[in-house]
Amino acid sequence: MGSTAKAIVTGFICRLCSEQKKVVIHLYSERARKLDLLKKIRLLPISLKKYDNLPKTICEECVIRLEEQYKLFKKIKRSQAIHRSHQMYHSNGRCPVECPLHGLADPSWSEITLDEATNS
Ligand SMILES: [Zn+2]
Ligand SMILES: [Zn+2]
Repeated sequence: MGSTAKAIVTGFICRLCSEQKKVVIHLYSERARKLDLLKKIRLLPISLKKYDNLPKTICEECVIRLEEQYKLFKKIKRSQAIHRSHQMYHSNGRCPVECPLHGLADPSWSEITLDEATNS
């Protein structure tokens, strides 16, 4: 015996969750570039610099979470653009057909109650 030391597998620390994982993606690798990881990571409350002496690897679970977060971010951005043009062009509450909010109940001006909305 006495060979237990060999069984210890060292992994990589994930920059996002700080867990040690065997499967990680290096942030400055080709794969990370294809997945746009750096761009997505900038949306998070972390500051990342190439030479900041901190882990440059992230685990697969965090990559998936990052994708989800990025999708949500893009959705919110798109939705904000819709709301902005709606506010700019017809603040009187009458949405023309061209407006993405046309025909939708807008809580900011609609007088309908929740009951009426759900019964229709
Ligand atoms: Zn992670
Ligand atoms: Zn509108």
